[in-house]
Amino acid sequence: MATFHSTRSHTHSYTAKQAIRKGIADDGGLLVTDSLGERQVDVASLIGKPYKDIAYEVLSVLLPDFSEDDLRDCIDQAYGAQWDDDRITPVHDLGDGDYVLELFHGPTCAFKDVALQILPRFMSYAMKDAGGAERVMIVTATSGDTGKAALAGFADAEGTGITVFYPQGKVSHVQELQMTTQRGANVRVCAVEGNFDDAQSRVKEIFADEDLAQALRMDDHVVLSSANSINVGRLVPQVVYYFSAYAQLVESGKIALGDRVEFVVPTGNFGDVLAGYYAKLLGLPVKDLVVASNSNNVLFDFLVTGTYNRQRPFYETISPSMDILVSSNLERMLYYLCEKDTRLIQMLMNDLNHWGAYEVPPQLLQRIRAIFNTGWADEDQVRAMIAECWKEHGYLIDPHTACGYFVMHEMPHDEDTPRVLLATASPYKFPRVVGESLGLDVPESDFACMDLLAEHTGTAAPQMLRDLEQATVRFTQSTSVEGMTEVVRDAADAL
Ligand SMILES: *Cc1c(COP(=O)(O)O)cnc(C)c1O
Repeated sequence: MATFHSTRSHTHSYTAKQAIRKGIADDGGLLVTDSLGERQVDVASLIGKPYKDIAYEVLSVLLPDFSEDDLRDCIDQAYGAQWDDDRITPVHDLGDGDYVLELFHGPTCAFKDVALQILPRFMSYAMKDAGGAERVMIVTATSGDTGKAALAGFADAEGTGITVFYPQGKVSHVQELQMTTQRGANVRVCAVEGNFDDAQSRVKEIFADEDLAQALRMDDHVVLSSANSINVGRLVPQVVYYFSAYAQLVESGKIALGDRVEFVVPTGNFGDVLAGYYAKLLGLPVKDLVVASNSNNVLFDFLVTGTYNRQRPFYETISPSMDILVSSNLERMLYYLCEKDTRLIQMLMNDLNHWGAYEVPPQLLQRIRAIFNTGWADEDQVRAMIAECWKEHGYLIDPHTACGYFVMHEMPHDEDTPRVLLATASPYKFPRVVGESLGLDVPESDFACMDLLAEHTGTAAPQMLRDLEQATVRFTQSTSVEGMTEVVRDAADAL
């Protein structure tokens, strides 16, 4: 049975369910299993199968302590009618051996749905396994996108509740509506008088507050958890779509079974591209993984020089979900590529904490470079790529995907290797930037922007985004930063 331990030590070990409940190791490391790759996925057996079956084949290898019934139930609930394409993550052919893997057909129109639709189901089973007396309350601060995807996933998930804080006036109108109109008996949404960092810092304090934890446990039988992107339960569902993309390409005759494919991945926290590396370890014929960054190009610099340096200016870009200076999931990749040397990882992460930087040994950098390629796009290049992709292919991309599109075209490329670009959000989530990039005279309201974009391109806005204009707002509460604790306590009482 696969057990999980910290990337920084072997002191404690956990089952997959415990790892999902725990999120992060006590020493601050990420939870990993040393048996990753021992059992391979039989790629040939996946061709022609529906997404749910592919998900079962992949997840049963990664989460061996879930029974078949439990895992199939999680998958059924997560990848059903809330997706607007029954392939869940369909592949679009751009021509000339280039493809786009569309990850935005879920309920919030961004790729985080793939993981956040199933994580709550995993958690329900993990809580049940632990005796079922306690429920888990997810608390999260969001700068926009993740909060909504988490709300949509946890709404009415058994044994769970969720409280989301967002900085008042700092998220787009559409993002705010996406959150404040969220349905479900176990959800709570609250604006915070402050910026994202204030809210985020307070959430960290709430997690560290032992008196609060004690009170919630005694009074409400509630434990707090964060559901953030380092949770094993968020990482493993993303491995599935790499297999799904490959199976679709074989099924449609675009590639032959065994052909190696390159994936280009717009990345911030290194989660999405790490899932591609896991897929490779599980036997998927992956040639290169290309890490595409925006102006916050800390990963690009690291992959080129071997030095990770977080001490640098932070840019607010038009691809905000990639605006990150500390790519947490990188630690897992380092662990596997340094031959599972927990002491090295601990040293590097100490350096990062103390000095804001670390440098990996040259042999390690070499091993990393043999798999991961990299590039980045500045703001003008992102806009230019949105226009170019539309002009060349009649295909609309969002600003995050456009970073990858730029890198894909800038990179020297072997003509015979098919390339798959991961599209992480619907262009209609960013109708203003996309419209401007196409040279349109964009109106004041985001909804009018959507309509203009639809009219100009002959495409349609996803129903769930367009319908927001008419949706009923359920949450109008706001709080001071100090008041956030009380909001959590209140939500736990009501759970
Ligand atoms: C979160 C996000 C990303 C970055 O994903 P990572 O897992 O952090 O690499 C890219 N695009 C969009 C639209 C996102 O929401």
